[in-house]
Amino acid sequence: MKSIWLTENQEGFQTNWMGNPMRTDIVIIGAGMFGITTAHYLTEAGADVLVLDKSGIGRMTTGHTTAKITSQHGLLYQYLLEKYGVDFAKEYFEANEESIQEIEGIVQAYQIDCDFERQDHTMFTKSANEKRKIVEEVRAMKQFTSQVEKVTKTELPFEIELGITVKDQAQFHPIRYLRGLAKNILEKGNKIILDTTCYDLKKEKDGYRIQTQKGEVLAKKVVLASHYPFIKYPGLYFFKMYQSSSYVIAFDPKKDIFSGMYLQVEEPKFSFRSAIDSDGKRILILGGAGHKTGKSVTDQMTYEQLKQEVQQEFPEAEIRYWWSTRDCITLDKLPYIGQFSNLLPNVYIGTGFNKWGMTTSNLAARIVSDEILEKKNRHQHLFLATRMQPIENREEVKNILAQSVKSLVVQRVKPSQLRVEDLANGEGGIVQLQGKKVGVYRDENGKIYAVKPVCTHLGCLLNWNGADKTWDCPCHGSRYRFDGKNLYDPAMKDLETISVKEEKEQE
Ligand SMILES: Cc1cc2nc3c(=O)[nH]c(=O)nc-3n(C[C@H](O)[C@H](O)[C@H](O)COP(=O)(O)OP(=O)(O)OC[C@H]3O[C@@H](n4cnc5c(N)ncnc54)[C@H](O)[C@@H]3O)c2cc1C
Repeated sequence: MKSIWLTENQEGFQTNWMGNPMRTDIVIIGAGMFGITTAHYLTEAGADVLVLDKSGIGRMTTGHTTAKITSQHGLLYQYLLEKYGVDFAKEYFEANEESIQEIEGIVQAYQIDCDFERQDHTMFTKSANEKRKIVEEVRAMKQFTSQVEKVTKTELPFEIELGITVKDQAQFHPIRYLRGLAKNILEKGNKIILDTTCYDLKKEKDGYRIQTQKGEVLAKKVVLASHYPFIKYPGLYFFKMYQSSSYVIAFDPKKDIFSGMYLQVEEPKFSFRSAIDSDGKRILILGGAGHKTGKSVTDQMTYEQLKQEVQQEFPEAEIRYWWSTRDCITLDKLPYIGQFSNLLPNVYIGTGFNKWGMTTSNLAARIVSDEILEKKNRHQHLFLATRMQPIENREEVKNILAQSVKSLVVQRVKPSQLRVEDLANGEGGIVQLQGKKVGVYRDENGKIYAVKPVCTHLGCLLNWNGADKTWDCPCHGSRYRFDGKNLYDPAMKDLETISVKEEKEQE
């Protein structure tokens, strides 16, 4: 499993740890699209900034995105118009269009070689039943922009029923873009320290003390750019959002390649775009098979579904890369941007990008950097992170609570029917051993890896993801490698490992 964006050398952007505690005016925790873009705007304003990341630049969600830069975030505008009115929908669109222009401006100003190109983005349906939704979306968007049109034909290798195209959107190589920004941040004297997990932050008289694995940092202001906030209280973000995973394949179709970007309205919601591979060849990227993170899935339900689509439409295709990732989904479809909590002054967040974080993280970076620099930002009011209205979405809150109760209480006590002997090579699952539940993966050579299958974030029982060979949390979306190594937030610690051989002998 490897993302097309992470094939190039990732070394070269590090500042050394200096002093204990390290002192800075602003610390940004997370070097993904949101963290690095925020550091960019603050650096350009002459601020003193330190970026910390537990992995590398853009190695997590941003390194596994499909990197379409568009204001078309699904069929969103009819919903925005109905819920908040036309002025709100218009402003949301304009704010995201500004982000596309901002990114293009940065690419040009800093001459970042990141394959940035303008392309149209189209939402399409193959189903007659879904046509009405597109008609309504066109009607909604036409109220505030002339950039949209209804289409019945595309360059895709199959017929569609109807589509809505938003003109003049863009796509790029997200990691080359972030590395271009990081280079400038370091050249202007600010700092980026990688491979450094932050565990906690404590309020002090003049700011915050941040605990990291390398030492402490003292900062006046903090930006939480860690994707899912690692602070549980205050904020209660685990009530206000959940995580959703998707799977991606990049392949050489061995025939003519189209250049536009596309997303299907109905399940399986396939997403298409082209990209330039490391050997300079244009290939296609197909995404889809999304599900709530933590659901127990198999290869068949995920990568196989994508491969079947590739084989059907491009029988000669050669698959080059495949990967998956997840993003935070908010209950009212709007990101959380700005002050993290009323109880923690000078702590800011950008999260809940709903799988559209290329534009919305740029928007978040502009809003948060303006707040820090005490400048007015006209879009700030749309996305207030402290808002609690999303939990008025009772259905989703009920789902979140029900999932937590199931995974924290019911599943943890219900014995598993599976035994280690039942697992073939390459399979994993939760087995019953000496009255306890143990997460076991038997690799392709028969070697057993066993872990305590309980999330180190808030204690939910994990599910086995047979597609990626990971342990995934159904409550808040943390993920661990088959051997228990923590991969994805909000958890920060690895799983406890268990020696199954000893336990089997005792049985
Ligand atoms: C399959 C898929 C496809 C997508 N495609 C698109 C698309 O085409 N267009 C679009 O606009 N959006 C897309 N998105 C969404 C977009 O990729 C994300 O919204 C965006 O990348 C999120 O960026 P981020 O900076 O918030 O998070 P990340 O990129 O995850 O960055 C967070 C960083 O914080 C670090 N971190 C976490 N915890 C800690 C800690 N405790 N201490 C220190 N560091 C920490 C991590 O190492 C990481 O580098 C897609 C999402 C998915 C799931």
